[in-house]
Amino acid sequence: MSKEHNPFKIAQAQLDEAAEYLKLDPGTHEMLRWPMRELHVTIPVRMDDGTVKVFQGFRVQYNDALGPTKGGIRWHPAETIDTVRALAAWMTWKTAIVNLPYGGGKGGIICNPKEMSEREKERLARGYIRALGRFIGPEKDIPAPDVYTTPQIMAWMMDEYSKIVGYNAFGVITGKPIRIGGSLGRGDATARGGMYTLREAAKVNGIELKGARVAIQGFGNAGQFAHKLVTELFGSKVVAVSDSKGGIYNPDGLNFEEVLKVKRETGSVVNYEKADKISNEELLELDVDVLLPAALENVITEENAARIKAKIIVELANGPTTPEADKILHNNGKFVVPDFLANAGGVTVSYFEWVQNITGYYWTAEEVYEKLDKKMTQAFHDMYEMYKEKNVHPRLAAYLVSVSRVVEAMKLRGWV
Ligand code: GLU
Repeated sequence: MSKEHNPFKIAQAQLDEAAEYLKLDPGTHEMLRWPMRELHVTIPVRMDDGTVKVFQGFRVQYNDALGPTKGGIRWHPAETIDTVRALAAWMTWKTAIVNLPYGGGKGGIICNPKEMSEREKERLARGYIRALGRFIGPEKDIPAPDVYTTPQIMAWMMDEYSKIVGYNAFGVITGKPIRIGGSLGRGDATARGGMYTLREAAKVNGIELKGARVAIQGFGNAGQFAHKLVTELFGSKVVAVSDSKGGIYNPDGLNFEEVLKVKRETGSVVNYEKADKISNEELLELDVDVLLPAALENVITEENAARIKAKIIVELANGPTTPEADKILHNNGKFVVPDFLANAGGVTVSYFEWVQNITGYYWTAEEVYEKLDKKMTQAFHDMYEMYKEKNVHPRLAAYLVSVSRVVEAMKLRGWV
């Protein structure tokens, strides 16, 4: 990975820009450039063939000035500590922009879940929680799903933690199945929250979403639900989707149920027949109104940013755009709803789940959607006010809002 595309260097560079703008004193700025705590663990797992495989895992607690740290756990073969650090930093800004009483954290395990059996995954999930031990907890650090981790994995992790502490600690982890403390509305929360910010972005930019052409990169949790919701909520037309194997394009629109069926049955959207095959790179540059990057980091760079035609880009993935690309998009009049605002719906409903676990009183899906809409709409406009006032690109505007909130908490606590 080149230095400039190291996600943690990018996260620090983004913060540096905000710190300069906010004229932060050097001590406060330095404190925000680094994780407060991180744990590296080695997890032995008995594989189905009887051998022991050893996995490396991480948990980073970036900053807890606003409350216990919160953030997902990624299972990815290319996971690195710097990626986890960057994502933990972004969680700090994410919880701050939606005004949740949380700091930011993130976890990761270097592994390839696609090559593991269910039993192997269960052993790895439980082994990770045993290794983290008392580093996490409902009042301390609350993990959740992320890339390649599922409600079932959250269930095993919650169960293992509950065994360690000796009682049902539902509030230790979010994104759980409904039967064991999950919240209604958590499944599609990331995409739904993104849709609320898309609605607001379209409003302020004078763009009609009904019939608007949409391209979605990534067909995991966020990408799939975005396809469904953008059609259902706004009547937009999804013309292209992709996954790690490639993409498909049909200017007349792609039917969600049909594409989902092909993805489930064959493992990839590329096997869908009523569309042309395109690459992930081509998808980004299509002539569309709305682009939803919902895959991995660093896909919009200084190399391709100038060729992006979408007017609104809502970053459902974490870190899809590099700082150089941000400037190019802004100069070309593109409106980016930055990742830590656009995809904050997931952690927002995670917060609702945690509140329901702690109070033992559960809400309807409608209550969850309504509360999510309020949070996302408010966060969008907090960012947008700053954007208009300071005349900076939307990501920097969002940083200015979030960093100010975290700094205020650090000052009130007497840290800086
Ligand atoms: N992994 C998700 C994110 O990046 C959700 C985190 C959470 O629910 O705590 O925002």
